[in-house]
Amino acid sequence: MSQDQVSVPPAAPKGPLLTDSFGRTMTYLRLSVTDRCDLRCVYCMAEHMRFVSHRDLLTLEELYRLSAVFMRHGVRKIRITGGEPLARKNVMCLFEMLSNHIGTGELGELVLTTNGTQLPRFAGKLREFGVRRINVSLDSLDPDRYRTLTRGGDVRKALSGLEAAQEAGLKIKLNSVAMRGEFEQEVDHLIEFAHSRGMDLTLIEEMPLGDVHHDRAKSFLSLQKVRSDLERRWTLSPLEDKTGGPARYVRVEETGGRLGFITPLSCDFCAGCNRLRVSCTGELFTCLGKDSSVSLREALRGSSGDELVEAEIFDAIARKPECHNLSVATETVSGIGRHMSVLGG
Ligand code: SAM
Ligand code: SF4
Repeated sequence: MSQDQVSVPPAAPKGPLLTDSFGRTMTYLRLSVTDRCDLRCVYCMAEHMRFVSHRDLLTLEELYRLSAVFMRHGVRKIRITGGEPLARKNVMCLFEMLSNHIGTGELGELVLTTNGTQLPRFAGKLREFGVRRINVSLDSLDPDRYRTLTRGGDVRKALSGLEAAQEAGLKIKLNSVAMRGEFEQEVDHLIEFAHSRGMDLTLIEEMPLGDVHHDRAKSFLSLQKVRSDLERRWTLSPLEDKTGGPARYVRVEETGGRLGFITPLSCDFCAGCNRLRVSCTGELFTCLGKDSSVSLREALRGSSGDELVEAEIFDAIARKPECHNLSVATETVSGIGRHMSVLGG
């Protein structure tokens, strides 16, 4: 068995698949377990946020029950996200419950997106509960810039998190949001840092989600520009895309490592979209780039059986849009009101 895989033959879904009106089948759930976070990244949150009340938050049992419904209908990969998922109290119980479905072959992959600050505490448990790959957000290695970007964060905590995760045997992909200015000077360092430690690095184009009190039209940096700048210094060889997601990968020949470019606003990945997102309050979003959602919480709380929830899910999937309508031009940004921390990307 490879160190990167939990090798159990896939089990057939127990119910009908989640196929939309464009023939796309949903197999990947991104589940947000909290909208809270120990950081306040400038592109993600406002300095002072209003978070959802505890009674509106799905309990860990409800999050698990919902996941089980999705798995029954063919979801094979679950990404736990947030807010900062490792800041949710007792979140390891959810990982433990989900890990049982890896053992049965129902769940192919359980993954996590985190800012890394809590990894020294949780990396070992994550590995124990079947997690093999994690995405860690790290926008800067420079303590001052990191503190500014996260509004007070300590980069040493994130770096200790990376070390703990590697010691626990977790494979890491770093995510960095591209921004005009100092990022452009630091990107080479981020590439060298990631690749010299056996980590992939993915650059993300900033999305206009939520009012964060910073001028996105000024900070927005197109990855097309980043890539053409990088090509003056590095040899980038395109790699075949296997993720079906919005990332395009290249091999950096000088380091041997992989570098990804996520351009969420380009529409060329919508045709293959297999993703669903559920917020920590049980809102189902069938498209990251649309404000519309369906609440599953009442259906979940309204009955002990899953028929009502299933009906809501199938109804929402039947209405999944063909493509989002977000746009960012170099000078103008038009977006939607929801913060990224509500859904976790
Ligand atoms: N707290 C965790 C973290 O930072 O990785 C998980 C949640 S965070 C919302 C998930 C990802 O969304 C991070 O990689 C973050 O950089 C990215 N993100 C947040 N706001 C964004 C925005 N406006 N545009 C693009 N990416 C964003
Ligand atoms: Fe927190 Fe992640 Fe948003 Fe940063 S990007 S504020 S770490 S939820």
